[in-house]
This record gives sequence, C-alpha cells and structure tokens, in this order.
Amino acid sequence: MNADPSKTITPHDTGCIFCKIVAGQIPCHKLYEDERVLSFLDIGPLSRGHCLVIPKAHYETIDATPGDLAGACAAVIARVSGAVRAATGATGFNVLQNNGAVSGQEVAHMHFHIIPRQANDGLGYRWLPGKLDAAGAATLIKAIGAGLER
Ligand code: AMP
Repeated sequence: MNADPSKTITPHDTGCIFCKIVAGQIPCHKLYEDERVLSFLDIGPLSRGHCLVIPKAHYETIDATPGDLAGACAAVIARVSGAVRAATGATGFNVLQNNGAVSGQEVAHMHFHIIPRQANDGLGYRWLPGKLDAAGAATLIKAIGAGLER
C-alpha cells in the first residue's frame, strides 16, 4: 500500500492501528484505495460485508478532519456501499461514524462503518426520540451558528 517511508501520509500517528494499515505495516482485507482514502473489511463484522472507509491521513474525529478529505471519504462510501450491497444481497445498510469514546469510538482514527442490513437481522440500537421545542431550537441555532462563523 504505502510501504515506501518517503511517501508517509501526514498527519500520521505511529501508534495508530489504521495508520499502520495505511503504511502497509499490518495487513487488511482491502476493498478500495486511492490517493487519500482506503476501504477494507472490518475484522469484527456486525454483518457480512461490514467494512470501513478511512482517510489515509490521521485525524481523530470527523470535526477535526478537513472538509475536502471528509468529502473524499463520502464519495468512496457512495461507491463502495453500492458494491457491498450488490455483493451481499443486503436490502439496506447503515453508515455509522463514531466520534469520541463516549460515542463508542475505539480506534482514534476517523472512519466510517458501512454495515449491510437484512430484514430481521437483529441489529439495531436504542433510538428514544425526545421533543424539540421552539425556544430550545432557537437557542441551538444561535449557539451552533456562532460556531459556524468561526
Ligand atoms: P469504532 O468503535 O467506531 O472505533 O470501530 C472500530 C472498528 O475497527 C471496529 O469495528 C473493529 O472491529 C475495527 N478494527 C479494529 N482493528 C481492525 C483491523 N486491524 N482490521 C480491520 N478492522 C479493524
């Protein structure tokens, strides 16, 4: 993959398992690769065809990732997910992206999961919707909008 040290992708974290995969130091079951993005099968699949899409450069979370690189990952997700769906016969799939330990992120190198789904596959998670009120929405729009202007 990128075994030539002169071509080290930056930023790079020598202790990161996904950086090691990118550098060719440990193997993966590769599905797709281009200059900036890599996709490979998840070693602990939730369903058949469960795979990951990662930027080659090391960013811990999506909000730390340059937008164009996140966009390049999104383009690969669109492409790989269709091929995974066709190959596995999945009738749908989830794209999951965890940020921070509290969200369930275990590998601190930004990545997207593509998780093929079948009817009655037993996968799923608690989704307990609250209710958005107008005052709460207005407060959030102001606070988030301030962050977007920075
Ligand atoms: P997350 O909990 O969102 O950080 O997900 C990390 C994912 O990486 C898990 O689904 C792991 O099974 C997967 N994973 C960890 N190490 C490897 C590896 N060497 N090759 C492929 N997948 C891996």
